[in-house]
Amino acid sequence: MTSSTFHREANPCGRIFCIGKNYTEHIRELSGVVPEEPVVFIKPWSSLVAPEETVKIPRHGSQLHHEVEVVFKIGAEGQGIPESEAFDYIDGVTLGLDLTLRDVQSRLKKSGYPWELAKAFEQSAPLGEYVPLQKIRDPQNLDFSCSVNGQVRQKGNTAEMIFSLPKLVSFLSSVWCLRPGDLIFTGTPSGVGILGSGDSATIASPEIGEFSWQFK
Ligand code: ZN
Repeated sequence: MTSSTFHREANPCGRIFCIGKNYTEHIRELSGVVPEEPVVFIKPWSSLVAPEETVKIPRHGSQLHHEVEVVFKIGAEGQGIPESEAFDYIDGVTLGLDLTLRDVQSRLKKSGYPWELAKAFEQSAPLGEYVPLQKIRDPQNLDFSCSVNGQVRQKGNTAEMIFSLPKLVSFLSSVWCLRPGDLIFTGTPSGVGILGSGDSATIASPEIGEFSWQFK
């Protein structure tokens, strides 16, 4: 069993909720508008890739972008969760890459079409190993980064999120019943950029760890 299989089998429910436009500087670099409510899309569970596995660059677009994000894992079932209780429903934290075909996304945005082709393709969600939430001093004050071939491209801190984790949990649970194993990718800071064949991307956070993927 590969570790990607392990990730997939860990959650029979299989939902990866992703938040777009949650960091001001990233919205600015894409000339976007700050949203009034969270921008949500979902990746299939099958798109997860475990650390150290090779990611094949998709061929249906030409600009594969890295988006490093802090990822929270749901540990208990809940619907209509108030912000004040949000952390009771989280049991793990890690980092992930919300891989995005930027040229495809721009085309879809212009036509007003859904983003799946740009965001939910095979291997679009490299994911690190979980750290228990209790081991994190303050989940809303976590530094994290993404380096490509050893050069830092993205740096962020979860304190800069437009919609905080409690707001996201409350919002998502007003639409879906959150279930153990569900993941929330919480958005990316500025500095997104292209990944090409032969590149190596490393995402890191002092309290979470460091995870790498090779692209071919
Ligand atoms: Zn993202």
